[in-house]
Amino acid sequence: MTNKLEGRVALITGGSQGIGAAIARRFAAEGASIAIADIQGADAVLAELRGAGVSATYVPMDVTNPTQVREGFAAASAELGPVDLLVNNAAIGTPVSSIDDMTIEEWERAIRINLTGTMLCTQAAAVTMRAQGHGNIVNIASNVARRGLPNRSAYVASKWAVLGFTQTAALEYVSAGIRVNAVLPGPVATPHLDEVMQAHARIEGRSVEDVAEDWRTSSPMRRFIELDEIASVSVFLASADSSAMTGQALNVTGGLIMT
Ligand code: NAD
Repeated sequence: MTNKLEGRVALITGGSQGIGAAIARRFAAEGASIAIADIQGADAVLAELRGAGVSATYVPMDVTNPTQVREGFAAASAELGPVDLLVNNAAIGTPVSSIDDMTIEEWERAIRINLTGTMLCTQAAAVTMRAQGHGNIVNIASNVARRGLPNRSAYVASKWAVLGFTQTAALEYVSAGIRVNAVLPGPVATPHLDEVMQAHARIEGRSVEDVAEDWRTSSPMRRFIELDEIASVSVFLASADSSAMTGQALNVTGGLIMT
């Protein structure tokens, strides 16, 4: 690794498992201190990072709760130094439901975690970043931020909205030296993906193997995306390598999305 994030303090929401944990490992390998913010504990990731000599901490945070978000950023900054990198990664993939069967509660839960959570964490991070005169925010959206997907209207709508939010935040914060960009992953094998593929199989009357094969082969590369392939693009956006980029969204989809 090349220490591209040396001296940075990164807060990663939903960093206890899956893509968030992979980003935490990769950011740490590039020299960043790491705060994992999640509703579930992060013992395994923290033990691994600390074992490698990384300054790392866990802050309990439900990204939909403004008080927990504020307190989480304050606790992370008090322990590690002012947070100057934020990865808005926490999200849920459910509900898997047709629009006809959608309940208002399911719809609002997905929008609240995936979209409102991104706004609340950005708002909290911007206070510290403005004070430092620099900052960097990476929003983890999805390939479905640029297409539709049956039975996933709430998730799809929340991820399209994250792109609109990314562009707007980029414009609002550019004069403060804060860059805001997004990563759009294709399907990555994580607990999140397992859960949603099982739900698709149930609601569409197919086997999980059939859904998995369908999704695996849907891109020109005909494979799932690796965790580290999302993490390395996140490092690029979070580092000076992308210093002229803000308001951008990078597809990491094996060619599935090309616009
Ligand atoms: P995951 O379900 O494996 O992990 C999500 C993490 O977010 C968990 O640790 C969970 O505890 C946490 N979380 C959930 N709700 C939260 C809340 N309210 N507050 C704080 N933390 C919360 O998911 P993943 O597959 O690693 O996905 C990570 C991101 O990547 C998400 O934004 C997801 O939409 C996106 N994504 C994933 C895929 C994929 O195929 N896995 C594809 C495209 C985009």
